[in-house]
Amino acid sequence: MSDKTTGLIHHPYVPPEGFAAPQPGVFKASTVFFPNVAAMRSREWKDKTGYTYGLHGTPTSYLLEERLCALEGGAQCLLAPSGLAAIATVALSLLQSGDEVLIPDNAYGPNKALAQGELKDWGITHQYYDPLDPQDLARRIGPKTKLVWLEAAGSVTLEFPDLREQLRVCRNANGGAGVLSALDNTWGAGLAFNAFDLGRGLGVDLTIQALTKYPSGGGDVLMGSIVTRDPGLHIRLKLTHMRLGLGVGMNDVEAVLRSLPSLALRYREHDRTARALAAWCQGCAEFAQVLHPALPDSPGHAAWKTLCGAEEGRAAGLFSVVFDARYRPAQVDAFCDALRLFKLGYSWGGPISLAVPYDLDSMRQPRPAHLAPGTLVRFSTGLEAAADLQADLAQALLALR
Ligand SMILES: *Cc1c(COP(=O)(O)O)cnc(C)c1O
Repeated sequence: MSDKTTGLIHHPYVPPEGFAAPQPGVFKASTVFFPNVAAMRSREWKDKTGYTYGLHGTPTSYLLEERLCALEGGAQCLLAPSGLAAIATVALSLLQSGDEVLIPDNAYGPNKALAQGELKDWGITHQYYDPLDPQDLARRIGPKTKLVWLEAAGSVTLEFPDLREQLRVCRNANGGAGVLSALDNTWGAGLAFNAFDLGRGLGVDLTIQALTKYPSGGGDVLMGSIVTRDPGLHIRLKLTHMRLGLGVGMNDVEAVLRSLPSLALRYREHDRTARALAAWCQGCAEFAQVLHPALPDSPGHAAWKTLCGAEEGRAAGLFSVVFDARYRPAQVDAFCDALRLFKLGYSWGGPISLAVPYDLDSMRQPRPAHLAPGTLVRFSTGLEAAADLQADLAQALLALR
């Protein structure tokens, strides 16, 4: 080498062999080297036996994809820069002008916003269906319907749908031709139920997850996944994913890989705390309704019990309360502002408990009859001690006066 600058760049580095440790290495790349032109020309970016370019993955992202397949019972996985990017990738891959998508009325809000925005502009129509009535879904499916979104439990109001019956409707749709089903599996996280195998030969076609939530577990990573079991469907999604240029940072992938071993442990603890607090809230006269699928009078409880209810059952650490209608929204705001351990913030899945007030009347039109009138606050439980969180709720209720 004539110049040490060149020597620093073309260094004799070889990756360590014989080094074994609990956590995998982090492989970051835009450029990936090929040994020769023939290899460059023959290597296929869709083929995961090799590497072609950072956008198509490195050993680090391949590993996370494999683990998520194992978690959810799928066979192929794509990573996206956020849960919402995963939702958008599914819509953009599977829908074209003239098609229709069906979305549950209690879906994650930005999924509905995508349908009302870009999808509508591109000539793709949508309908919202009642997540608690599979016959309503059946009535709305028509020849234009190309995709049905499912969400269990639904966002904010946490109704748990009869997923099996919904999937039966999807399978029998359009004279038995069927329609593709996509489940937003963020709430279940692959732990509450098996989306690809719900029993009786029923399973969803694909899942998305906001890895941002429990898989990351830190409140510091944004990422999404799309898991499938059918290679053809996976390739349809992968082509769009590639053409949109969706990549993820390998340091973020590493953060999720590091959190995955404690996922089930954390999920159980978030669940336990949420149920303890939801039960306590049921005894408070300030609340007209407490929404948590494990509560017998919560909408969709029977469906939750069937699918997730073995032994003590499984649920995410989320519950909502509807304040008695005698409290004005400003009083509920004062309650939220008075919370100390519960922070005000969107998202969930990290160690810190969060609260968000929602204006249900602007989200659900008309407001469903199974939801009491009044202002709703959604809580996500972190990993703090349940007794401390309960005391926090109790002291904040004093601000209602
Ligand atoms: C948070 C969330 C998403 C979106 O995830 P981001 O990574 O924040 O984009 C999608 N679906 C559900 C149910 C969520 O709770």
